[in-house]
Amino acid sequence: MTDKYAVIGNPISHSKSPQIHKLFAEQTSQDISYDPILSPLHGFTSTIKRLVSDGYKGCSITLPFKFEAFQISQHLSESAQASQAVNTLKFDENTIYGANTDGSGLVRDIQHNLGFTLKERRVLLMGAGGAAYGVIPTLLSAGTNLSIVNRTFNSAQRLAEHFETLGNISILKYEELGSQAFECIINATSSSITNEMPPLPNGIFSPDALAYDMMYGRDTPFMRFAREQGADLVSDGLGMLVEQAAEAFFIWRKVRPETTPVILEIRKQT
Ligand code: NDP
Repeated sequence: MTDKYAVIGNPISHSKSPQIHKLFAEQTSQDISYDPILSPLHGFTSTIKRLVSDGYKGCSITLPFKFEAFQISQHLSESAQASQAVNTLKFDENTIYGANTDGSGLVRDIQHNLGFTLKERRVLLMGAGGAAYGVIPTLLSAGTNLSIVNRTFNSAQRLAEHFETLGNISILKYEELGSQAFECIINATSSSITNEMPPLPNGIFSPDALAYDMMYGRDTPFMRFAREQGADLVSDGLGMLVEQAAEAFFIWRKVRPETTPVILEIRKQT
């Protein structure tokens, strides 16, 4: 019998997860279906209850439900516990297991696919929203020397307090960035969605730096700025999207798909 999975978000029509999981299923000969499901903004819990009673085995969670998915989970992976955000749910005999695969997806894309080692690198993460919360525990475990900058300084302070037991994070204001250079800058803001650019100063990239935008599917103002500023490696977030999906697929199916051909295929389609 075909096992049913889904991705839940609002909006959802833009999601590439159905194509990604279809390719994983074909590659690994797994008999699954995977649907995009639009949840009402104030109806996330009832959407999940409906999926469970309809016999779904699990789902991916995207904007804006990752914190609500954390609340609804009865068991949590270590990274979901640390970030308090969940992007993968697995439904098992009346229990809901929540995991967060965004951090491992990001770090695997950077280290394995792009070949950039994060250990002891000066990393600047821009943003203090759901995406930042999801990836910080894994960035700290990878041994980065981590700084955060956010438009609303109070949110960055709250974030640093939240993670203070996991490691040391420097909190900065955009105005303070002038005198520093970073070996890796990750854009975890939603500025690229509106074609905006966080106010980074000239000279912010060290030689051989990586510029990584979590946004995917198009060239962004941040990626163009990074190239102009001489960043050595410039990447969008498609690899992260595919890697976090592969980790979710493994949680559900105990089979690990190969990601490189899927990244290439999805890039061709966009
Ligand atoms: P949130 O809405 O939770 O957070 C948005 C963040 O962006 C806030 O910190 C906000 O700052 C900041 N921001 C928004 N506009 C600007 C701007 N013009 N200049 C500077 N900062 C700005 O979004 P998420 O954290 O959930 O998502 C962020 C991005 O990451 C999205 O583009 C999303 O698509 C992407 N993403 C990609 C994934 C992948 O697999 N590739 C996975 C998860 C997310 P403030 O606090 O001041 O409002």
